[in-house]
Amino acid sequence: MDRVILIKYGELSTKKGNRNFFINTLYNNIKNKLKTFDVKISKDRARMYIEFKDQELDEIKKVIDKVFGIHKYHIAYIVDTNIEAIKKRVLEVIKNLHFSTFKVETKRSFKDFPTDSLETSKIIGGYILKNTADISVDVHNPELLIQVEIRENNSFIYLNDYQGSGGYPVGTQPKGFLMLSGGIDSPVAGYLAMKRGVKLEAVYFEAIPHTSLEARNKVITLTKKLAKYTDSINLHIVNFTPIQEAIYKNCRGDYCITIMRRMMYRIMEKIVKDRGGYVIVNGESIGQVASQTLVSMSVINSVTNVPVIRPVACLDKLEIIDIAKKIDTYETSILPFEDCCTVFVPKHPVINPKLSTAIYEENKFDYESMITEALNNLNTIKIIDAVESEFSELL
Ligand code: ATP
Ligand code: MG
Repeated sequence: MDRVILIKYGELSTKKGNRNFFINTLYNNIKNKLKTFDVKISKDRARMYIEFKDQELDEIKKVIDKVFGIHKYHIAYIVDTNIEAIKKRVLEVIKNLHFSTFKVETKRSFKDFPTDSLETSKIIGGYILKNTADISVDVHNPELLIQVEIRENNSFIYLNDYQGSGGYPVGTQPKGFLMLSGGIDSPVAGYLAMKRGVKLEAVYFEAIPHTSLEARNKVITLTKKLAKYTDSINLHIVNFTPIQEAIYKNCRGDYCITIMRRMMYRIMEKIVKDRGGYVIVNGESIGQVASQTLVSMSVINSVTNVPVIRPVACLDKLEIIDIAKKIDTYETSILPFEDCCTVFVPKHPVINPKLSTAIYEENKFDYESMITEALNNLNTIKIIDAVESEFSELL
């Protein structure tokens, strides 16, 4: 074994009391994600180490890039903690590289090592200069930064920093339920919630035959894309047709969207409570459409006490799109299948709805029994990390 992936934890290093829980969750998440690879993973309080086979490195990196809780990682050469061995190994590592200036940066966490960090860097730098030609040291703007970490058991040499995806390991927070439409915003909201460690389940409201099976498939594809950031996501599909139709038959046109969303929130609340969740997550963004003015949000939100997390509430559409592109959901989201909101959008939805009017209008039909019916017929699909998926009636 010559190289390891050396993983540095992100923000979890600030979580003193919970540190072991965070590290163990991250360890289990990485282990689970790499179960098909020939790797050996170990950890201590500061780092995680992955021993790997060279031919699998590129694929392993792609997987690691989607694991939250990793701040930075390096492909590090392992060497004995001994200055002679370190000098020689550094020279071997850099000898085929093309550069004209360099800098050695040493971190010494093993305090019994005979020389301090600065002195060690100087010794290694001097050795490089003596054994190469036409290169010089540049401490401010080096073409090649050689990083050396002196630790008690082994030391490490690395030349590159790879950015991890940051955040907290998924599972360090309990379950949140994402309202997942086929649009651009909700997958981004789900991604951002997972990034804070939330274990996600998704809920899609469909209104067949007003919406198509293609629209459902689009949501399944989006869930698969999100599942790459976790181990699996349960996608619950709600048959919303009877409620939608009842709203449009019985209620004032300009209040239909407000009432429809109050119904969605009511159903969400029941799903969250039935399934041991704590929050609703959705893709609402302040002011984006009539149902997302602060007045609308307040009237809609008043049906439930379950906290609603809106990760993209304060982002511009273009900022949301940037993230959607980065997480590869954008192309799927813009496919032109109608979802249940777009099909029923009235010409002039109310922008500043009144709570009393919403309540008056929605009481024109027996929505409680329809909500119970919808919940009894929930269809759940378990989406496992983009690879396989299994159907089941109710998980
Ligand atoms: P998105 O682009 O994510 O669909 P949007 O801009 O279209 O958002 P709305 O349609 O008003 O906004 O919906 C706001 C949020 O409500 C969505 O981001 C999503 O979280 C939720 N939502 C809307 N429609 C559905 C649906 N059919 N199933 C599940 N959640 C939905
Ligand atoms: Mg939408």
